[in-house]
Amino acid sequence: MVKIFCVANQKGGVGKTTTTVNLAAGLAKVGQRVLMVDLDPQGNATMGSGVDKRKLELTIYDVLLESASVAEARVKSDKLVEGGCGYDILGANRELAGAEVELVDVERREKRLKQALAEVGPDYDFILIDCPPSLSMLTLNGLCSAHGVIVPMQCEYFALEGLTDLVNTIKQVHANLNKDLAIIGLLRVMFDPRITLQQQVSEQLKTYYGSKVFNTVIPRNVRLAEAPSYGVPGVVFDPSSKGAQAYVAFAQEMVERIEKM
Ligand code: ATP
Ligand code: MG
Repeated sequence: MVKIFCVANQKGGVGKTTTTVNLAAGLAKVGQRVLMVDLDPQGNATMGSGVDKRKLELTIYDVLLESASVAEARVKSDKLVEGGCGYDILGANRELAGAEVELVDVERREKRLKQALAEVGPDYDFILIDCPPSLSMLTLNGLCSAHGVIVPMQCEYFALEGLTDLVNTIKQVHANLNKDLAIIGLLRVMFDPRITLQQQVSEQLKTYYGSKVFNTVIPRNVRLAEAPSYGVPGVVFDPSSKGAQAYVAFAQEMVERIEKM
């Protein structure tokens, strides 16, 4: 059965999109059928998967407003297929920013994405949702659709503080809207082992969150940052780079965790 995961953290620029597209590519590489859903009006995950957000005829916006189905709106990217990491993409662009307002008076508006994804569930092993940097209605739609949340975080002092807000939101959604929802794990990203503070925060994380902290650590790696300008995830752009290898290892760790779930 399909497993649906949100990549979420209300803090901006912590590596959500990089994690979503590289995990999607990594999972595709190990033979999983994957749909990547871009739930951020910035459309970075769309562009980073080789799809021009300005040229999309249908996006997740149309899906949320129920003027298109996921099957109609999803696209493929030649670059990904050529790179041996083909996953499907439900893209987003700035139009999505309007959905928040347009859905205000709609009943069960936080369940729109869940309903839409149910129809394509059998087509996939994994659906990954890239959330925007906020705890908005869009993120809520993501959390209501998912079995679990993957939280990328940088090992910095304020990271722990922000985590409390996110954990509380997830608890509330779990209690009121989605009993399936759990934190799958915290992923340490952009990690630089030479920085003492990062090591300390990493240790603190393990003390507080134990096995919720993924074993895989994603290093700071310039190839991961360069890849989006070529419209592919780092895993496709430079498979031999440290960053790409770490994300493929993370994909394998995810598959193992899911088997135990
Ligand atoms: P936003 O909150 O705006 O959606 P985000 O959480 O999705 O941001 P990303 O866009 O994935 O974060 O990453 C922020 C920046 O850091 C990007 O320029 C990205 O290329 C870079 N980056 C992410 N992960 C790494 C890494 N492991 N090594 C080096 N650079 C990275
Ligand atoms: Mg992002």
